[in-house]
Amino acid sequence: MSQKLSPAQFDELKSLLLTRRSELQQEMQQNRENLAPPSADEGGMVQRNVAREVDQALTDIDAADLARIDRALKAMADGSYGICGECGCDIPFERLKIEPQTEHCVTCKGRWEQASGQIKARP
Ligand SMILES: [Zn+2]
Repeated sequence: MSQKLSPAQFDELKSLLLTRRSELQQEMQQNRENLAPPSADEGGMVQRNVAREVDQALTDIDAADLARIDRALKAMADGSYGICGECGCDIPFERLKIEPQTEHCVTCKGRWEQASGQIKARP
């Protein structure tokens, strides 16, 4: 069963994406500041390195998320937003509202996650 998004739903998702996008950009900015070269302070060195690895990982996750948001916004512009990249069905609004940058319906994502045995970003 397919259900097209209403203009109001579309606008709501778009503002969700834009909000999430600016949050991510802020987060990444923050992480980049944390990744700045450590000071020559001996004692905190090891701890700082661990923190840097975590920040780097977070930055990678944020960058992947940001790329998906950008793709979603682009899809909104060309009218292909909300369509599952796997089976071509219309992704329900309820799902988009939770994860507006999603590119797959629950069925496809579930099948794919089951197959790979873990949750990871699609290339
Ligand atoms: Zn699908």
